[in-house]
Amino acid sequence: MKLRRGPYQPVKAIALEQQQKLKYILTHSLSPFYLQKFKEVQGLPNISISSLPLTTSDEFRASPPEDRITQPDIASLIPISTSGSSGKPLTVYMSGREYLLSQLKQLIFFQQLGWKPWWKTIFLWDVDKSSSKSFFQTLVNLKKKVIDISAPLDVQAKMIKSSSPDLLMSTTDALNALAAWSIHNKIAMPRVRLIITCGSPLSPQTRNLLTSTFNAKCADIYGANECGYLGFQCPHCGLYYFNEDSHILEVLDQENRPADHGSLVITALDRRTTPLIRYHIGDMVTLAPREHVCRIQFRHFTSIDGRSTDVLLLPGGGTVTYLSTMKINSIDGLAQFQIVQTGPESYLFRYVKNDSVSESDIIQKVKTLLPEEMLPGLTFQKEKVIHPDKTGKYKVIINQQ
Ligand SMILES: [Zn+2]
Repeated sequence: MKLRRGPYQPVKAIALEQQQKLKYILTHSLSPFYLQKFKEVQGLPNISISSLPLTTSDEFRASPPEDRITQPDIASLIPISTSGSSGKPLTVYMSGREYLLSQLKQLIFFQQLGWKPWWKTIFLWDVDKSSSKSFFQTLVNLKKKVIDISAPLDVQAKMIKSSSPDLLMSTTDALNALAAWSIHNKIAMPRVRLIITCGSPLSPQTRNLLTSTFNAKCADIYGANECGYLGFQCPHCGLYYFNEDSHILEVLDQENRPADHGSLVITALDRRTTPLIRYHIGDMVTLAPREHVCRIQFRHFTSIDGRSTDVLLLPGGGTVTYLSTMKINSIDGLAQFQIVQTGPESYLFRYVKNDSVSESDIIQKVKTLLPEEMLPGLTFQKEKVIHPDKTGKYKVIINQQ
């Protein structure tokens, strides 16, 4: 079975499978949005993907929800909401079958990392959408428990301690907050075999915090609510690999030419309910060299930038993005931080520090890493913990202007 071999399939077989799936979508599975968009396109469905027009996130969000789906019966579908960096939420729909398929993909990834079906699993998550009554779903849910991500940290910690899970999965920021809280309050967490993070990049600092707090192996998933799991952190080489069996992924520069570093454009091959074709997901990625050697032959990438799209605006017209604050991650003793722009020239640096370092030390180091023009309007605020927002994400950069 192709699915079982997953990312270990030879890369040539994948190209063929991608082509077949794309042709199927272009023939049978275009939503009103794409029928309209591709109206003028010649040569469908036997067309190379680069000849199709690109879809921007704004354009997609602006279309009526019923135009984005291929099935008229919304009530039978599973809604997935994205928080939306612009503050404008987007809901996409998937069928029960598509949902199961994405769970199966997740399990194959867990299996690469040593997961066993009898492992106790805790998802620190918002809602459980796994309402399907199929045999497979029952199997998935058998050992799985969902803890509400918005519960107070002491409640989360208590529930995790009493369940003593083998696998713990949540957003990077929720787990970071929980681990930082447990260290601050000197509460020992149970040993967990495997931690899976998702939602925002897993920095080396957060990885160290999680591995030491839970004495666990740690791996990151790169996904987007609109289209599911785009990539997994490779258990063999440590970089990320693209899930090329479910997506065609293109990296394009500012002139929309193929590039090694640029904007990620996805075509979701396993999504027939809400098709997404050449869709700008809003993230920047850097590809690993084509000659990168790994047991998994899917294309690897070295980094994802800009999973947080807020930027700070500087008085002189410059900007500070998530990427340019990565250096701050390397400050010793700084457990968490967040920079909030509160006015045209005022910024708040919220931070959580370990006992090993002094406040003045942290402040001095942060100042050397931020642009000089930010400093006159910069204030510091020490926190016990920085909580993720309701969706389980916390942004390193928030622009409140
Ligand atoms: Zn690899």
